[in-house]
Amino acid sequence: MKLKRVKGTKDILPGEVERWRRLEEKIREVMARYNYREIRTPIFEFTELFAKGTGQDTDIVTKEMYTFLDKGGRSLTLSPEGTPPVIRAYLENNLGRRSPLKKLFYIAPMFRQENPQAGRLRQFHQYGVEAIGSPQPQIDVEVISLCVDIYQELGLDGLELKLNSIGCRDCRASYRTKLRNYLADKADELCAECQRRLTRNPLRCFDCKKEGCKLIMKEAPVILDDLCERCREHFQTVKEGLSDLGISFKVDPTLVRGLDYYTRTVFEVLGPGLGAQDALCGGGRYDDLVEELGGVPTPAVGFAAGMERLLLCLNEKENSPNSRPDLFLISLGLQAQRLCLRLIRKLRKAGLRCEMDFLGRSLKSQLREANRERASFALVIGDRELETGEANLKEMESGQELKVNWADIEGICSRIRGKDVNS
Ligand SMILES: [Zn+2]
Ligand SMILES: [Zn+2]
Repeated sequence: MKLKRVKGTKDILPGEVERWRRLEEKIREVMARYNYREIRTPIFEFTELFAKGTGQDTDIVTKEMYTFLDKGGRSLTLSPEGTPPVIRAYLENNLGRRSPLKKLFYIAPMFRQENPQAGRLRQFHQYGVEAIGSPQPQIDVEVISLCVDIYQELGLDGLELKLNSIGCRDCRASYRTKLRNYLADKADELCAECQRRLTRNPLRCFDCKKEGCKLIMKEAPVILDDLCERCREHFQTVKEGLSDLGISFKVDPTLVRGLDYYTRTVFEVLGPGLGAQDALCGGGRYDDLVEELGGVPTPAVGFAAGMERLLLCLNEKENSPNSRPDLFLISLGLQAQRLCLRLIRKLRKAGLRCEMDFLGRSLKSQLREANRERASFALVIGDRELETGEANLKEMESGQELKVNWADIEGICSRIRGKDVNS
């Protein structure tokens, strides 16, 4: 039997890994400029965290989690999303102690047992931020602008930012009743899942992808018309703030996001050429979550963005420029190989990227290997070189050669760095 990777997982191979690292570096760079600090939480947590945090009725919790019992009989779950673990860590480590506003970001794998489809993996990667402690709409604006800036700096054009407000506990309660009343006499036409949503959380019907449901939801009352005074003001300030920054957006009153914890601002960024259901990122305000997870009432706002889909959108411009060796040490015979092992360690410590032969190959096939690896230089060492202390340093592209003292590590390094054999 051939061992295979688990369905919905992916190997990130050399060549592709460099693209991931460049993306991660860009994310860290922008996060640093916005003064968000990185946090790393465990990849598994007690299941209860997500049941409470993500929400008992969400698709994630009811259908998609990798949940298992450990040897002590505890129910654990691989993180399906980043927000509940970050809030748990915030509370457990008392991160709000020093400053009433804590700005955190993460880059991490997440796990959901979804039906595999294009661009949807069961282990996928997200980066995200959580700004915990400020009720001000201005921090919503900062979070959205940070989100947009990362895409812009990656050179991604044609993005669409969708924005909505889903109100607070107060205004949503009355709206929910209104929506439920609207849907009550149409319940028969809703899909089975939406009928279930109808009793628990009718707002979720906006997320349904079934044509029949979509048609009904098109005519449904929207929450924007029922926002309380404070929610209305909050939303207005967010919109003004984004306009001030020249960030264009579209208000979509049907945008509700599939998670239970959002309050007021919700947003999504759609990538160019991606279907409407394939948001690059989503986020919003969640003023009740910290309290629900056992903290004192603390407002917060954040987003999570998928990395696989983002990489799909990015141009394949650069092709791992830094992956070629500076020098290939060609050794002929065991004595020469022994010397090369000593030399290569010194050259590597001096900062060069070096490779040598470990297969006992002939001169010709070692040269071929040096070419295949696209090494900049080769240094040939055989019996004669061992005796004389001199060896030929060959620039692979031009074929030019130069005699060097092979024990002169510094000299070899400066020749290679100077890139010119004749200098
Ligand atoms: Zn409200
Ligand atoms: Zn439905």
